[in-house]
Amino acid sequence: MRWESLLDDCVTSVEGLSSFLDVDETEKHALEEICKKHPVRVSQYYMSLIERSSRKDPIRKLAVPNPSEKSPKGTYDTSGERSNTVMPGLQHKYRQTAVILSTNECATYCRHCFRKRLVGVETDEVLQDIREVANYIEGHSEINNVLVTGGDPFVLSNSELESILHPLSVIPHLDFIRFGTRVPVTFPDRILMDENLVEMLREYSSSKVRIYVVTQFNHRREISKKSRAAVERLQKAGIIVGNQTVLLKGVNDSLEEMTELLRGLLTIGVLPYYVFQCRPVKRVKAQFQVPLVDGVRIIEGVDRNLDGHGKRFRFIMSHPTGKIEILGIHDGVFVFKYHQAKDPERVGRIFTHPVDPRMTWLEDTKLELD
Ligand code: SF4
Repeated sequence: MRWESLLDDCVTSVEGLSSFLDVDETEKHALEEICKKHPVRVSQYYMSLIERSSRKDPIRKLAVPNPSEKSPKGTYDTSGERSNTVMPGLQHKYRQTAVILSTNECATYCRHCFRKRLVGVETDEVLQDIREVANYIEGHSEINNVLVTGGDPFVLSNSELESILHPLSVIPHLDFIRFGTRVPVTFPDRILMDENLVEMLREYSSSKVRIYVVTQFNHRREISKKSRAAVERLQKAGIIVGNQTVLLKGVNDSLEEMTELLRGLLTIGVLPYYVFQCRPVKRVKAQFQVPLVDGVRIIEGVDRNLDGHGKRFRFIMSHPTGKIEILGIHDGVFVFKYHQAKDPERVGRIFTHPVDPRMTWLEDTKLELD
């Protein structure tokens, strides 16, 4: 069997879900309404990780629509991606970083996705002309790295991936290319069943341009035999795999769960480098966002549980103005620091905000610093 057939075999309807899980009739109607806006897609593999007897199962929460997605709280573009866009599929995010939205498809549509506005639905935001994109990057020598994301680039065929990699690999001022993909977590067969993909990545990374993979494990149970094998395949090809976790209510918002997850990642050689505060995304915020005070407590506890190697990650709020590190609470104020910023002058700047226990995000108005 080929991975493409497995991808075709994903669960893509509420009816399909209900043949695996307990979904009652009233709920079905609500979920069908939600899926008209934000479709469901769950790989058979990821489905198999769900604990069927529990409606509160964290893996279920990550992949299966929930009536709380009806809440309109939040917005669809929480990181100012529209304003970074220079042409369809290309964002010039930071001075040195370009982002390519390669596709709007994924192997599983995560319910907490911050690009919910475009995954699985019609959009004009994804890549149309790689030649023009490469020309733009070539003409901007300040760009030294490209993040290829989506959607999930690893659901593209090898030839589609190479059509992106090749023109980028000949740009002399690029130090490296990252693929942002959740395929190792939600659809590891893509990697395990296709040696040509790994071979192509090995070839490019060793002789043309260094390739990194950034994935997103959010719960310890996602580290399965198969996902571990997929990660190892990449690692054996010389690809360094890093992880960005999102702090998510009901999934990993406890000291125990977060510690277990990060320790699990360390055992498979995947470096946790960011824990993200969940963005205030429409149809995500109400279900998944954790107050900042709770986040700070969890991360402080995790820091006490891990050694120096494991706690090199940063707790980050990815804000329209940049990546803001949440350093902690001191004397009744949150202490923040710009880790990355659209305005390079802001990088390294430390600022504070009075603690409000209900606070989950920084409003833009609070960031009009000098
Ligand atoms: S795989 Fe990534 S882009 Fe796709 S739905 Fe999940 S988080 Fe979003």
